[in-house]
Parts: sequence; structure tokens; C-alpha cells
Amino acid sequence: MEVITTINEIRTRIAKEKKAGKVIGLVPTMGYLHRGHQSLIEKARKESDFVVVSIFVNPLQFGPNEDYDRYPRDLERDKIMAKQAGADLIFFPSVNEMYPAKPKTFVEVNELTAQLCGKSRPGHFRGVTTVVSKLFHIIQPDMAYFGLKDAQQVAVIQQMVQDLNMPITIIPCPIVREEDGLALSSRNVYLSPEERNQATILYQSLQKAKEWIEEGITETRILKDRIRSVIETQSLARIDYVEILSFPSLEPVGEINETSQTIIALAVWFGKTRLIDNLIIDRNEV
Ligand code: AMP
Repeated sequence: MEVITTINEIRTRIAKEKKAGKVIGLVPTMGYLHRGHQSLIEKARKESDFVVVSIFVNPLQFGPNEDYDRYPRDLERDKIMAKQAGADLIFFPSVNEMYPAKPKTFVEVNELTAQLCGKSRPGHFRGVTTVVSKLFHIIQPDMAYFGLKDAQQVAVIQQMVQDLNMPITIIPCPIVREEDGLALSSRNVYLSPEERNQATILYQSLQKAKEWIEEGITETRILKDRIRSVIETQSLARIDYVEILSFPSLEPVGEINETSQTIIALAVWFGKTRLIDNLIIDRNEV
């Protein structure tokens, strides 16, 4: 698997592919790849001609007390996983390559970043949109693939691309889960066996919510209370948020049917690990 670490070199390489008429697909990641990332790469493989996977643990999107230092990293394993899924190239810049000096320019999306993870992790989305803009400028993809595991991120990036007229199609991809429902995440390796067991409650509570909605309970206040009660049955779970908002506009809703799409979004701590999950409900399905 070809790995390029400098901006100059990747620019030259991409220019060559573009000249040959290739459609460029980008899958931005922080590495430690799993089947969730691979599903994005596989989709990019099907829909574009030249697939770039970027691997960069972006310090700008981590808070001072977050897990930047201990975030799992394994390039050799990532190379195998990326190749298996059909990537053509890995862009793997150093922090110094991406931020040779302290940046003074940032990209910030308002409103959509005021709730959910934006509220719990101040500055997080500013780091995400800044680095994704940089990657878009460097690689100039035609399409970029993002997982709905991070649904707020998808909404924020789509808004950024629209507001700044970036000529890139954002492709949202479905959440890939373990057999017991836990959404795949590079951070799952932090979980102790007991935490890992209890973490299935996120998916279970979303499934319960779906059942309640199908039974006709559509008031979001009631649904949120019930979801909280389900999560709280697990001794190690500490809820960060349980929210139900319109999607992708991320505004409060009183009833599930109020807008065409509604997101039930969860963030729950297990020990030192914060897990997120969500379910997007389509009005037509209710
Ligand atoms: P990360 O490396 O965690 O920053 O994730 C890189 C990309 O992979 C993001 O667009 C994520 O939303 C996506 N992703 C991570 N986990 C999953 C998953 N379980 N299913 C689908 N996409 C995922």
C-alpha cells in the first residue's frame, strides 16, 4: 500500500490522477481502522476511480483533557485494512506537516455545533472543520465519505461545503456494528470486558426507542426519559447526553413526526471512555 506523508508529494500525485480523468474519492480517518472505516473505503472504491484514505490524529479536535496522546495508532495494520477494502493510497502526514506553525485561521460552523458533541466537547468541531477543509484543499476530492456514526459531523461538514462552495459531494454512510449492536469505534479498545458488555445498552436503548415510536409514543420528552432509564440500568454507564433533534438541522423537536428526519443521539461514558451512537428516524417509516 502506497503511503504518502508530504503535502507536496500528494498534490503532485493527485494532479496526475486528475489529469488522467480520474474521479477522486477521499475517506478521512484518524486511523486504527476497523470494518466501519472499511465500509466507507469500499463505497468509495465503487463510486470513484482513485481512493485516498487519510490517516491523521488531529490534535486540534481534541480537548486538553481528552485522549489525544493515548489514541490508538497502528499504521502497519491500517495499511493491510485499507488495501483489503480497496484503497489506492494512504495520506499519512505528521502533525508538523499539517501544522508547521500555530494556525491563525480556522473554519467554524455555527449553530449546528452548539449542541450534542459540540456542547460536550468545546472546540471539537472547529478542529474537525479546519482539518477537513485543509484535507479538501490538499487532496481536492470529488467525493468525500463520512460515517453516520458521527451524524453531527456529517451535518456540520455538509453545511461547511455548502456555505463555502466547496465542489465536493459528501456521501453519508451507514453505521457498521458488532454482532451485539455496539457501533464499531477505534475507542472500543479502551473498554474493559465489563464495560464492553454493558456498552451494548446504547444500541439496545435505541432499538427500544424505535419500538416505542412504532407503538405510537412520539413525544420526545417521554422518549428521552425512557431511554435514560434503560441506559441507567447499567451500573457503569454515566450519561453525557440523550437528545432528540431534527436532522440534519439539529433543532429541538417536541414530536418525532415534526420534521422529515429526526435523530436520537446518545453519548455515554463507561469509565474513561465516551461512546456515541444514534438512530435517524424517517417520518415515512413511522
Ligand atoms: P474516525 O477515524 O473515528 O475519525 O472515523 C473516520 C470516519 O469513519 C468517520 O467519517 C466516521 O464517522 C467513520 N466511522 C467510524 N466508525 C464507524 C462505524 N462504526 N460505521 C460507519 N462509519 C464509521
